[in-house]
Amino acid sequence: MKMGRLLSNQMLGRRSLLGGLAGVGAVGLTGSRVFDGSSALASPPAVNVAPADLDSLDLLKRMISYDTQNFGTGGKTRPFAEMLKGVWDAAGVSTEIIPTPQPDNVHLVARIKGTTSAAPVLILGHSDVVPVEKERWRTDPFVGTVRKGQIFGRGALDMKGMDAASVSALLRHIDEGGQFERDIIVLTDCDEEAGEYGSSWLAEQHWDKLDAGMVLTEGGWFLAQHDRTTPMLITVTRQDKVYFNLDLTARGVATHSSKPNPNAAIVKLSRAVDELAGWLAPIHLTPVTREYFAALARATHDRAFAKAIRMLLHARSHDTRERAARVVVARSDYPWLHSALLRTTTAFVIEDAGYKENVIPSTAHVRVNCRGIPGGQKPRAFLKQVRSQLAHRDVRVALARPEGTSEAEYLDQLDKSWATRPADLDTPLYRAIKKAAAATYPHAVFAPALFEAGTSLQPWREHHIPGYGVYPYVIDNDQLVAMHGNNEGIYVDALRKGTAFMYRMFDRFRV
Ligand SMILES: [Zn+2]
Repeated sequence: MKMGRLLSNQMLGRRSLLGGLAGVGAVGLTGSRVFDGSSALASPPAVNVAPADLDSLDLLKRMISYDTQNFGTGGKTRPFAEMLKGVWDAAGVSTEIIPTPQPDNVHLVARIKGTTSAAPVLILGHSDVVPVEKERWRTDPFVGTVRKGQIFGRGALDMKGMDAASVSALLRHIDEGGQFERDIIVLTDCDEEAGEYGSSWLAEQHWDKLDAGMVLTEGGWFLAQHDRTTPMLITVTRQDKVYFNLDLTARGVATHSSKPNPNAAIVKLSRAVDELAGWLAPIHLTPVTREYFAALARATHDRAFAKAIRMLLHARSHDTRERAARVVVARSDYPWLHSALLRTTTAFVIEDAGYKENVIPSTAHVRVNCRGIPGGQKPRAFLKQVRSQLAHRDVRVALARPEGTSEAEYLDQLDKSWATRPADLDTPLYRAIKKAAAATYPHAVFAPALFEAGTSLQPWREHHIPGYGVYPYVIDNDQLVAMHGNNEGIYVDALRKGTAFMYRMFDRFRV
């Protein structure tokens, strides 16, 4: 810690607390205050926040216990929002539940008033979760279960863990009687995973409640060294990949299943799937991903991995780049993540064909979810490549698009998403994240990054408001893979340390 600067700061008590927490991963933010000191002089009387609400683990367990599964048309988020509203209300923070046309599906907005009218910081955390395959879980997905140092439950990582860390960190400041220089809005949104009434709907209805100067949501990974827990690379995302879908459809002769033929729809489709699954779109590095991989090379303790990354970054030919990328992905402790950051991805997500045992169906279809790199390969170029790759397969390749929109029009829209610039880094929020990362994870490398998935940041992006993302807990690859999968969990120590990180980040906004 930079003690000289700390001592000169009037907020000695609070900074001392932070100094005491530095590098102590297992120590949470719960327990009595270390020092009330001078900060109390300039602040209003502290509100008595319940100790359980200051403990992000306790709060996360409660959040997980609400089944907010979103099967595609919204989840039942009202009870969750009411619980969280109770937490805010007890701390004296004004809140509002904003209903959607679905009675049990709501948004919650909490607003901590600041001392000036500077543009607010908005923390965006969704309450809905993707569905579970309950029988494939080792624990009940809707009971936050701590086992061997990890907390398991649907949403532990995505993103109730981030929600719990943000809320607990803010409540810690409130409990200390702290005041912020600007409003801090915490929007707990619904319909992030699917559904019509998500953040874009909310923004159309109530933009006045969401208007902010900068936004933080889910995104940047906190990666570990090979031992799975030592912080290696702390990232904040400033851009999301471009989301689109392809539909592959094969047709064959519908006939009696007693007389099979080699060109049945399901067979043709399966051959095409197999071919596309084995094909990789070309690598496209952008300034954002170059910066990320350069930081990864500095951060890793694996010298061969670092060397391969440098080869990837310095490759002059397509072949050298592809060869280096194969080594990078093979040596990475997070291979699927690092593969996804290099190129447009194809994931086979929904397949449908057939309806009866004695009928060979005439049609077979698979939906392919694709994620393109903004500023990298354009979706239209990718689509063209997939079509030419599968030209000999007698399978139709269509770009899935909203009803009433032609392919040409939709490609134009995707071009716009592709051209979205990464969030500006010259903002108080980005600086706060960076400082908090340096203080909390002093031996790790910090870097801005591309998010391989998507977020509900769209409405703020449309308003040119910078949006960033973090999942504030160091994770290993098994945890990363369990996101949207089975046995989702995060390390308890990592959650506690991440809560300290969030506390430090908000601390930069205290008066
Ligand atoms: Zn999420």
